[in-house]
Amino acid sequence: MHRDIDRVLISQYQIMARVRELAQQIIADHSPPKMNDAEITIVPILTGAMIFCGDLIRQIPMQMRIGLLAVSSYPGASLTTQGSKVFGEHVGDLRGRHVLVLDDILDSGGTLRSVVPRLRELGAATVKTCVLLRKDRPSALSVHVDYVGFEIPDEFVVGYGLDYNNYYRNLPDIVTLKPAVIQRIAGS
Ligand code: 5GP
Ligand code: MG
Repeated sequence: MHRDIDRVLISQYQIMARVRELAQQIIADHSPPKMNDAEITIVPILTGAMIFCGDLIRQIPMQMRIGLLAVSSYPGASLTTQGSKVFGEHVGDLRGRHVLVLDDILDSGGTLRSVVPRLRELGAATVKTCVLLRKDRPSALSVHVDYVGFEIPDEFVVGYGLDYNNYYRNLPDIVTLKPAVIQRIAGS
């Protein structure tokens, strides 16, 4: 698996430090006097945001609930978005709740554009968004996000929850893959 890495873009140590900073911002924005009912519902977008969520929520010592949404936009070995499809919704009763959606990466913006209205439709009082990575491309920059971990170049990345054909999610760093690896998996 490690032989397949081309470059490390963001190390696990950089991620750890940034996740702590994001948590501090989120705590400040969800505490009095900004919000009286200091309780949030965290909704990670599965599967990619799973690891980010696990790390982030353990830095937020607030009353919280977790809801789950499963969305697929890069099925199988695709390297470009195929349109986002919600295929699992396990969020509980969101009426009147302050929701914070977590996603691994903002690319075309299709995922957040479909998920945020859906959460409002389910009755959430407020819906904020947080992505670990944002790609430097016009479609990603045109979508409103409340919290961004890192800005990255418009390249295909894996690791820290992000996959290629459902592999590499367990790499601790955010990396790019060697072109030969992508060709091999796409052809398999
Ligand atoms: P969007 O809906 O903004 O186009 O894309 C968001 C979703 O596409 C992400 O949640 C992620 O699952 C997938 N995605 C976008 N860019 C990348 C990438 O560079 N690498 C991987 N592994 N997934 C990506
Ligand atoms: Mg995703």
